[in-house]
Amino acid sequence: MTSRLAHIVWHRLTGLMPGELNQAELAWLVSPHFHLTLLSRRRATMIVNRVRLFAFLFAVLTPLWSIIDYLVFPFPLWFALASMRILASVAFALLVLYYRPSGSLTDAYRAMAILFAIPTVFYVATHQLLVNYQLTGMQAAIGAGYAFLPFVLLAGLSIFPLTLLENILFALPMLLAQAVSGIISWATLDWPSFAGAFWLLTLITGVSTLAGLSQLAFMIALVRQAVRDPLTGIFSRRSGEEVLELQFIISTRSNAPLAIAFLDLDNFKAVNDRYGHEAGDSVLVGATDSISNNLRRGDMLARWGGEEFILIMPNTDLEQAQQAMRRMRQAGFGLRPDGSPVTASIGIAERLEDQTLDWKTLVEKADQRMYRAKQSGRDRVVCDDTV
Ligand code: GH3
Ligand code: MG
Ligand code: MG
Repeated sequence: MTSRLAHIVWHRLTGLMPGELNQAELAWLVSPHFHLTLLSRRRATMIVNRVRLFAFLFAVLTPLWSIIDYLVFPFPLWFALASMRILASVAFALLVLYYRPSGSLTDAYRAMAILFAIPTVFYVATHQLLVNYQLTGMQAAIGAGYAFLPFVLLAGLSIFPLTLLENILFALPMLLAQAVSGIISWATLDWPSFAGAFWLLTLITGVSTLAGLSQLAFMIALVRQAVRDPLTGIFSRRSGEEVLELQFIISTRSNAPLAIAFLDLDNFKAVNDRYGHEAGDSVLVGATDSISNNLRRGDMLARWGGEEFILIMPNTDLEQAQQAMRRMRQAGFGLRPDGSPVTASIGIAERLEDQTLDWKTLVEKADQRMYRAKQSGRDRVVCDDTV
């Protein structure tokens, strides 16, 4: 009975999940741990760009409010508030000027933390100042506006494409600070109004988190469309180039080997000519499935052209790459419509062995060797420039 109930609840809940995501991608909404590098880099860029946009808006708007303060508050108070506003505005402006997207998530978190820290400090400082004044009427109304800052901050979380875990980690310090300040002023506190305000803050956090998650879901779906080849589901050439560029930098920095294999299916045009384009398409899918099933963790397969693929193998020397290709050719590349095995001509290049200085040269080398594999009879691997 309970298990049936749990089943129904679970189905109801998963039915509410964003339909554009598959099972594995749903887990990505919870924590950034297993995100693709390409997703993380784009997300980091987007977060920093939004931080800068908001910092810019706040840098302009924060000092403007001083006009209102000047009109309603007595002398030392409006002046002190205006000084704090100028300081906050300068801090926001510095954030805009000195923070540029780097593609690193750590940098993006730091930018967000600074963006939230500036108004938090401003809030604490103005709060200390305002409690010294007995404000009435219009002054009290404007003064109360300062107490809204935590609400604005938690609502502001909604513009960032964050995972559930990240949302909680960013909202928690602000909620905790509110709770602690409530407990500290326990005796003087108007308890029902504090509880009401805290409940509202929690609700706003929940709504912001949902907004952030739905942005993230949308982004995951878009990134998948941008990085995957629609026919085969493996990486597109553009994302292959992006990853190769990144891996080349990493392997150069750590002086580690980096091997790539250029694969071109043999006599593929004949499949199209004899059995039609559809049949050709399913041979392509069969071949990529077979290659994908034989990849090691960390290897990456991209569709470079029609029936040409590049396999990126980080931390793999020439010997290991040859071994990987032997294993792959043994497993095969699927079957043609007539039942005969699909074969491929393969060129291998390796960064250290070939002493290449950039990733494009590495691809050129592998491409030339693939071509030599074709010339010398197809269905083979070439990994050097002898003969
Ligand atoms: P070789 O052994 O010399 O590589 O011979 P080949 O026939 O494989 O080489 P060629 O480059 O002449 O032919 C590649 C063919 O791949 C031509 C093109 O029609 C076909 N092709 C490219 N993209 C697709 C695709 O997405 N689907 C299908 N069905 N065919 C494609
Ligand atoms: Mg070709
Ligand atoms: Mg071919």
